[in-house]
Amino acid sequence: MGLTDLEHVLTDVIEARRDDLVDLASRLIGFDTTARDVGDPPRDEAELQNALAARISDAGARVELWEPAASDLDRAPIGPPGLDFTGRPQMIARFAGHGGGPSLLFNGHIDAVSAEPRSQWTSDPFRADVREGRLYGRGACDMKGGVAAITLAAEVLAEHADLAGDLIVCTNTDEESSGAGSMALVTHGVSADAGIIPEPTGFDTWIACRGSSFLTIDVPGRPGHAEIDQPDWRQGGAVNAIEKATIVIDEIKRLRDDWRARPELQHTLLPPGSVVPTMVTAGEWGATYPAWCRILCVVPYLPVQADSGGWVSDVRREVDERLIQVAATDDWLAEHPPTMSWSANVMPLELSTDEPIVTVVSRVSADIGRPGQLAGLNSWFDGATFSRLGATPTVAFGPSGRDGSRILLHAVDEYVRIDDLVACAKGLVLAAVRFCGSGPQAGERA
Ligand SMILES: [Zn+2]
Repeated sequence: MGLTDLEHVLTDVIEARRDDLVDLASRLIGFDTTARDVGDPPRDEAELQNALAARISDAGARVELWEPAASDLDRAPIGPPGLDFTGRPQMIARFAGHGGGPSLLFNGHIDAVSAEPRSQWTSDPFRADVREGRLYGRGACDMKGGVAAITLAAEVLAEHADLAGDLIVCTNTDEESSGAGSMALVTHGVSADAGIIPEPTGFDTWIACRGSSFLTIDVPGRPGHAEIDQPDWRQGGAVNAIEKATIVIDEIKRLRDDWRARPELQHTLLPPGSVVPTMVTAGEWGATYPAWCRILCVVPYLPVQADSGGWVSDVRREVDERLIQVAATDDWLAEHPPTMSWSANVMPLELSTDEPIVTVVSRVSADIGRPGQLAGLNSWFDGATFSRLGATPTVAFGPSGRDGSRILLHAVDEYVRIDDLVACAKGLVLAAVRFCGSGPQAGERA
């Protein structure tokens, strides 16, 4: 499909503003918006959001910056407990269309993962550095580059296209940690006929992702001197909680293998669900049998494993039952079973390939010279929340996050190719005019 006159104008303007795009992405990298633990003070989230808000309101948007109340998250069990937004506002910017067309959401998360180990970076992760056509810095591809691209795309659309439908631009926190930022946006009423998030997809169109939850398993033991031969536990002897935990971990491995083999859990775009132990803590003293062992697991799960609301309850029931069953085979654990607690949950996503936004975005990728495929993300992105809870079918489509086989997301020396950023912004303007429709006078003012 060739470009219309208006589309030529829009993409030419993007090309001409390449340096502006790099400057904006560089500026965003300079704000420290590292994902934080609950209770940590805010970082530079407000400064970054204010800078974006100023720019986007200059382009004619009605901008709302606000700190959600913690109670805004009560409707969904996403966690983590105690999270709040003090000093960490979310942004909604609305450009009104002239009417009669579908509305479109551009969204990006402003948080980035820790830059540690900083000493391994070639350049300062918080001072963007351009080398060989690449923009280096923490968040360059995931996804401050994408946030810069939606900002520029919105500015160019506001100036040169007369969109029929509304364009909504949102930037949020807490994607990397919990998904709470997009949940707050949806709770605040953000909704559109479709959405695009320029995560680093390599110009593929992500239409699916796995949900994820955390599982904490506490395995009890009984303390006692570890260098003194102990009687049987029924005679008051000590029990090693670490050794009992291996029974649980072995069952987790068997469950994982079961899921991998089960025909109904095969997905064309996603790997099977899994239970992955990621942290283990245990014990009180080097010469004492550990009285407890705590195993933290992350549990990614497929759309087909979600309950009717999209949440983790069916997976939770299955995992809990398996662990209680295996505990029953051990005489100590049968009488002192492990306890399981689940926290922090985000939903999986699966969009129909018939969604108009899927068709629009996948065609756009060819028209900007970056033909991609329909794909899924093994982990999670905000599109799941917008799609499932905000009634806004939302895909991801953006620059590459790979250097050959090396994954640049969350990596030391993260970068984004500047050509990719420009191509992404072009893809966004094309998708907007095609999805929202454009007015009869469009193009004449260019
Ligand atoms: Zn991301």
